[in-house]
Amino acid sequence: MLPRVTATVDLAAIRHNFGRVRQLARGRRVMAAIKADAYGHGAVQVARALADADALAVACLEEAVVLREAGIAQPIVLLEGVLDAAEAREAAARELTIVVHDDQQLAAVQSLDGARPVPVWIKLDTGMNRLGFVPERAPELLERLAALPAVRLVGWMSHLACADDRESGFTTQQLARFLKATEGLPGERSLANSAAVLHWPDTHLDWVRPGLMVYGASPFPGATGAEHGLRPAMRLAARILSIREVRAGDRVGYGARWRAVRDARLAIVSAGYADGVRRSLPVQGLRFPVAGGSAELVGTVSMDMLCLDLYGAPAARVGDWVTLWGEPPAPAIEQVAAAAGTIPWELMCALTGRVRMVWEGGAD
Ligand SMILES: *Cc1c(COP(=O)(O)O)cnc(C)c1O
Repeated sequence: MLPRVTATVDLAAIRHNFGRVRQLARGRRVMAAIKADAYGHGAVQVARALADADALAVACLEEAVVLREAGIAQPIVLLEGVLDAAEAREAAARELTIVVHDDQQLAAVQSLDGARPVPVWIKLDTGMNRLGFVPERAPELLERLAALPAVRLVGWMSHLACADDRESGFTTQQLARFLKATEGLPGERSLANSAAVLHWPDTHLDWVRPGLMVYGASPFPGATGAEHGLRPAMRLAARILSIREVRAGDRVGYGARWRAVRDARLAIVSAGYADGVRRSLPVQGLRFPVAGGSAELVGTVSMDMLCLDLYGAPAARVGDWVTLWGEPPAPAIEQVAAAAGTIPWELMCALTGRVRMVWEGGAD
C-alpha cells in the first residue's frame, strides 16, 4: 500500500542543527526539547540521533516512559514535573529528572524516600505567569530541598515569554529577575529556549533548552532556519490523486471560495486538515513544487484533500508527489505556518496519525 502523505524526517539535519546549538551555546550544556513526540518528528528516533545531548526534555511522565521503554538511557527532564507522590515514585524508579514548580509538586518530591537521590530543578516564575515559584522564595526552597536526602538539587530554571521578539525589553527584565533571585545560590541555571540561544547570549547561563531550532525552524517571525545556518528536518509530501480541467468562471472546493479566471488544469492532492495541513491557508497564492515545476494552492483545504492549479507545472501527472513543506524549492514550514496564521511549532505538532513517518540519515 502506497502512503498518501509522508513526513520524512532527516536525522542528519537534526544532528547538524544540534551542532549549531553547540556552536552558539559555546560550552554550555544542552537540554534538547523532544516533548510532543519531538515536535512531531518521532521522540525515540530523535533521542537516538541526539545521543550526545547532555539531557533530553519532555513535558510529562508518559512521554518519558515511552523513551525509557525504548531503551533511551540519557538524562530525561520532566518539564511539567509530577502531579502526585505516585508519579514522583515512578519518575524516581525511571531515573528521571523532575522540575518542581509549585508547593504541591514540592510535597510530591518530599514524599520520596528512595536511596538514590532524584535530581530536581526548581522552576521560578520571572514574568511568564504560567508555572514556577515566585523568585523571592528561592532561598527558602533551597533550604527545604537540602533537608531531603532523597532529592538532589540540580539547579534553577525559568522560561522566557518574549525571546522571539528581538526588540522586546521583557527578556532583559526576566533575565535580571532570574539572576537576582539565584545570585549566590548553589546549583546550575537555565533560561534559554531556541530564540534565546540564537539572539540572547546573556541568557545562555549553564544550560540551554532549545526545541524548535533542533528541527531546523526559526522562532523569529518572518525568518527561516536557513538564516541561522539550520536545515529543515521535515519534508511533508502528498500525492496527486486526480487531475481535472476547469473552465474560466468555474468554482473550486467547499464554499466555492476560489474561482478560475481562465481555463485551468487542477490537481487534487491527498492531504487535508485531517493530516495536519491547515484549513486556514489562503485560497490562493501559496506555491508548492511538483514535477519540476510549481503549483498554486487554490480553494479551501478540505479534510482529506487540497487542490492545486497546475499552470506552473505542466508535466504533473497522477501519482506525483507534491512537497508541502521542507527544503527549497518547497516553502519552509515557517512560511506555511505564517500563511495559515499560526507558528511552526503548532504545524509540526499537528501532524496526525494518518501521516506515514519515514526517518532517514540515522546513524545505524
Ligand atoms: C518547549 C520548551 C522549550 C523549548 O522551546 P523552543 O522555543 O521550542 O526552543 C524550552 N523550555 C521549556 C520549559 C519548554 O517547555
